[in-house]
Amino acid sequence: MYKHYYVNNNQTNNPGLHHEVHTEEHKNKLGIISATYLGYYASETDAVAKAKMYYQDADGCAVCCPNAHGG
Ligand SMILES: [Zn+2]
Repeated sequence: MYKHYYVNNNQTNNPGLHHEVHTEEHKNKLGIISATYLGYYASETDAVAKAKMYYQDADGCAVCCPNAHGG
């Protein structure tokens, strides 16, 4: 299922310090104000790969991107 993905421009303590990737829906739910749009992807793995072009420590959110959540 295709979704819009964003990477938080601020690092999140989760508990490591990462720039987390979220779906548009979860980003809005969390009230993240500063985020970079990544694109429309079929999987969070592709979205995180794109996010790593911006932030090397990018990681998928455990809640909305569990398949791309490394740690
Ligand atoms: Zn999320």
